[in-house]
Amino acid sequence: MTTDSTDSTPPGIARPTVRTKSRLIVALDGPSSSGKSTVGAEAARRLGYRFCDTGLLYRAVTWLAVDRGVTPDQVAALVPLADEIRLVADARRRLRHVEAAGRDVTAEVREAAVDRAVSDYSKVPELRAALVPRQRGLASEGGIIMAGRDIGTIILPDADLKVYLSASAEERATRRAAQRNLPPDDPETVQILQELRRRDAIDTGRATAPLRRADDAVVIRTDGNTFEQTVAAVTRVIRLAERAKGVASAGR
Ligand code: C5P
Repeated sequence: MTTDSTDSTPPGIARPTVRTKSRLIVALDGPSSSGKSTVGAEAARRLGYRFCDTGLLYRAVTWLAVDRGVTPDQVAALVPLADEIRLVADARRRLRHVEAAGRDVTAEVREAAVDRAVSDYSKVPELRAALVPRQRGLASEGGIIMAGRDIGTIILPDADLKVYLSASAEERATRRAAQRNLPPDDPETVQILQELRRRDAIDTGRATAPLRRADDAVVIRTDGNTFEQTVAAVTRVIRLAERAKGVASAGR
């Protein structure tokens, strides 16, 4: 496993300073539970791209802040926590795991307590600003699908391709509930829907880097889609963009 820190380069090997032109930079945005992380990671696997789930950064900072008793308004204590977060790559260079203060917290950051708190932390402008160079640095080499809320609008406004995954709140809540083996009429499913709507409202209504579709994004509506159909749709638009830019496709 490697981390997103710059010191992962073996001694004697120069880090690339210019972007490899052969692969694209793809911004993949969308609301909570729109499937960005799972769909993006699978599309990256098929196409041989790197993948970065930026939600993990915000989730891990939130987890660490809650653990240390730091509230969203304690900005001076909150921002330095970002330095204790490391994204960790799998064998296919997909940044899908996260460490906080040296401990793997990938499972913890998906828990309901983090779900509830994360939007309140991620609307803090100083925290967002601290994470911008980090995300841009990861993308600079090219050949990456980066998933988040503000990737196409703020982090990578010059991305080669911007994709926006949309799905109704009901559809997203049903998917989330199914992952937890809950029937659609279960009270917990209703709670998931309310919680998703609350997070959507914070993420789209915040002053800094609100969730919104970039004007030049390709919108993929995923209501009623299977996972496979959405992966195929994302893969297709990336291949089309590669062709349009004269980039040779890899993967299957
Ligand atoms: O994508 P995920 O649901 O894991 O993101 C968790 C939260 O992190 C979002 O609800 C949002 O508040 C925040 N986030 C963000 N900008 C990103 C990625 C995530 O504000 N690029």
